[in-house]
Amino acid sequence: MKLSARMSRLGTESAFEVLAQAKALEAKGVDIVHLEIGEPDFDTPRNICDAAIDAINNGYTHYTTSQGLPELRTEIAKSLETTRSITIDPDRIVVTTGAKPIMFYSILALLGEGDEAIFQDPLFPVYESMINFSGATAVPIPLREELDFRMDMDELRSKVTPRTKLIVINSPQNPSGGVLEEEDVRAIAEIAREHDIIVLSDEIYDYIMYEGKNYSIASQPGMLDRTILLNGFSKTYAMTGWRIGYGYFPAELVEPVVRLVTNSTSCTPPIIQHASIEALRGPQDSVPKMVTELKKRRDLIVDGLNKIPGISCHLPKGAFYVFPSIKKLGMSSAEFSDYLLKKAGVACLPGTSFGKGGEGYLRISYATSQDNIKKALARIETAVAKL
Ligand code: PMP
Repeated sequence: MKLSARMSRLGTESAFEVLAQAKALEAKGVDIVHLEIGEPDFDTPRNICDAAIDAINNGYTHYTTSQGLPELRTEIAKSLETTRSITIDPDRIVVTTGAKPIMFYSILALLGEGDEAIFQDPLFPVYESMINFSGATAVPIPLREELDFRMDMDELRSKVTPRTKLIVINSPQNPSGGVLEEEDVRAIAEIAREHDIIVLSDEIYDYIMYEGKNYSIASQPGMLDRTILLNGFSKTYAMTGWRIGYGYFPAELVEPVVRLVTNSTSCTPPIIQHASIEALRGPQDSVPKMVTELKKRRDLIVDGLNKIPGISCHLPKGAFYVFPSIKKLGMSSAEFSDYLLKKAGVACLPGTSFGKGGEGYLRISYATSQDNIKKALARIETAVAKL
């Protein structure tokens, strides 16, 4: 079969491939510690699950509007307003089946041949994949370990051309755990205003911060009309499998994005939307509890990795990933992660799954129990000693 030419430009998310390999090994009886998939291992809070069951029992089992339930969009607006000191119009929010489709829809609506989009490298791989798929040129801006995985603003300025239409940023960041500081978002906003560029700001890890503050670019002067703010429920409320997220859009983008939803999924299931209303309206104590536990795991894994000769690991300020450097081990990221999976029973991802800038690093998700982390550290140490 001859596929369309554009399919050759669409990449993938290798976390799911590594998960499949790890599962295949498990099926043969190999014990694997899973550090590859980026999802909280906490249960979705009970009140959210109960709201979904109530929604089923109350008959919310039919199509609903493509844009999302007004009650949910109002709750999302309230939550964005309190956390970001901005005024949010609920009619500029689009609810989608996970936050991921916001990348898909925004990029399809905005970019095409002849356009350029700058993206942080390393970054969640769907961005580069979708930019390429759209026919636009993907322009990486390196995140620098020596800058705590932030970018150099002069370097960013040097990448801007008259064709630059979009800058993609993500903070707290996947895969590095880096966080943009206020001076960073201020400088990016300045560049965006000066060159008439839209910023897609992925803030899905906004609540998962251990120190400092999450500075949203949407709060910068004049940025609300040129920011696509991506967020969702997957990480904050441990709802990865429920598939719900949202975007806040510049006014002109709302109708095209809603049309893309109508053309693809029709709507986000109302059962899940009702559960998400409860997530925002109900008790919030599960969130700080989760972050407190994640912080202990972060400290455990960073400390343990730094004790292994040849590995060095910075202390990330947010998200639930570490991005240790393995440059001194004399293996590529792909070789070393493959070695860890097959010889040590530890599944993690090569840094290159997140862009060329990830060479020399591993991406480890520490959203797993402290016991699992200890077991993985011991196995990695033994595997490194055998090199
Ligand atoms: N953005 C980033 C940076 C992510 O890491 C992820 C999930 N790993 C997403 C978005 C997607 O979130 P969702 O599961 O809601 O689609």
